[in-house]
Amino acid sequence: MNEPFDWLARDARHLIHPQHDAARIAQGHVWQKGSGIVLTDTAGQEFLDGLAGLWNVISGYDCRELIEAATQQLYQLPFASLYAGQTHPAAIELSERLANVCYPSIENFYFTTSGAEANEAAIKTARLFWRRQNRPDKSIILSLTDGYHGTTLGALAASGSDRYQEPFGPRLPGFIPIEGFSQPGFVDRLAETIQRESPDRIAALILEPVQATAGSWSLSAEDWRRARLACDQADILLIADEVITAWGRIEGWFALEAFGIAPDLVTFAKGLTSGYVPLGGLGIGERVADVVFDTTTHGPWLHGQTSSGHPVSCAVALAQLKLLSEGGLIKAAKQLARDLPIQLTSLETHPAVSAIRTAGSLAAIEVTESLSPDQIAALPELLARRGLITRTRGRIIHLAPAYVASQEQLRRIVAIIEETLDAFR
Ligand code: PLP
Repeated sequence: MNEPFDWLARDARHLIHPQHDAARIAQGHVWQKGSGIVLTDTAGQEFLDGLAGLWNVISGYDCRELIEAATQQLYQLPFASLYAGQTHPAAIELSERLANVCYPSIENFYFTTSGAEANEAAIKTARLFWRRQNRPDKSIILSLTDGYHGTTLGALAASGSDRYQEPFGPRLPGFIPIEGFSQPGFVDRLAETIQRESPDRIAALILEPVQATAGSWSLSAEDWRRARLACDQADILLIADEVITAWGRIEGWFALEAFGIAPDLVTFAKGLTSGYVPLGGLGIGERVADVVFDTTTHGPWLHGQTSSGHPVSCAVALAQLKLLSEGGLIKAAKQLARDLPIQLTSLETHPAVSAIRTAGSLAAIEVTESLSPDQIAALPELLARRGLITRTRGRIIHLAPAYVASQEQLRRIVAIIEETLDAFR
C-alpha cells in the first residue's frame, strides 16, 4: 500500500494538481516526510530540495517553533472571522509586527491565503483608489510580459505568459504588458507606454522587484529610482509583488529597500509562514489607505474572503517573523545570499551553461542552446535521479534553497547540476 506505484495510481484516479499534466504526474515523486532541506519519498529515498518547496519553505521542513505556534493556536481558537465587527489577537499582532518591518510608508495590512489573491486585492485596491477620487478612467494595469503573479483571472491577466493565458480564452481587458527586465531599456519602454496609453487611463504598474520565474532579472538602483519617478510623474501607483522577494530572500525584509525606493502597495505570501499553512497579504501605503479606507465619505472596502487573517496562519507568521528577527534567520538568509553565488562559480565555465544570474539567494542557471528541447524537458527528472529536486523553466534551472541549507548541501546541489550537465557531453 505504501509503494510509490500505488500512490501514483490512486493519485491519477481522483486528484487534480496545480498545472495538471497527467504524463508528468505518472512519473511523480510521492513525498512522505521532510527534515531541514531534505525530502524523503515513500520508498525511503532522500532528495535535496533546491527550491525550498515552491520558494516558500524558508525555515526548512522541521521547524519546531512553527509547528508549535500552529498547534497552540489550533487548540485555542482554530477559526475566527475578520469580517467587520470581529477580530482576533493573532491578526492584530501580525499587522503590528508587519508595520514594524515593512516599508515605513506602509502600515496597513490585509491577509489572504495565497499570492494570487494578494495580487487580486492589490489590483482592485489600485482601481478603487482612483475611482474614489472621481477618476474612474484610471483603470489600466501595466505589467511585464514575462512577469508572474498567479493564475486567478486578474493575476493571470497581469502575468506575461501566453501559455498560461491562451487555453482559458482572452486576457481580461485593461491589462497592458511591457517587455520586462531581461531586455535593456525598461524605464524608457515604461515612459513610452505611459505616454502612448495616457497617464489619465493608467491606475498602476505591477511588477516583481526581481523577476523570479523569468530567471532572476532586476534593474539597477538608478533604473529603480527612474521607474519610481516615472510612476510619480504620471500619477501611477507602483505595486511590488514581493511574494518571492520578501523575508530576506533578496536583501533586508523587502527587496526594494535595497534600492532606496518604496512601492504604494506591496503583496507577499510564501516565506511568511514557510509554507506550513497558507497565508498571503497586501500592505497598503498611507496615501492609498487614506483614500480607500475613508469610509465616512465612501462606505466600506467591499473585498474579503472567509479565511482572510486565519488565526492559525497568523500565529505561524508571527512565529516565523520572530525566527527571522530574533532567531537569526535573516542573518542565515544573508549568509546564504553570500554563499550560493560563490558555490555557483564552479558552473560558470561549464560548456552547457550560458549564464548564471543571482539576486540574493535566488539563482537562475541558464543552459546553452546546444541542449535539445528533449534534453531540456528531461532536466528535472535527471536532476532528481541524482538527488536534487528543483524546477526548470525553459532553459533555466531555478535555485532558491531554504535559509537553513548547510554549506555541504549547497556544494552537493551544485555538484548534482554539474554532473547532470556533464552527462550531456
Ligand atoms: N507572485 C509571484 C511573484 C509568484 O512567484 C507567485 C507564485 O509562484 C505568485 C504571485 C502566486 O502565488 P500563489 O501561487 O500563492 O497564488
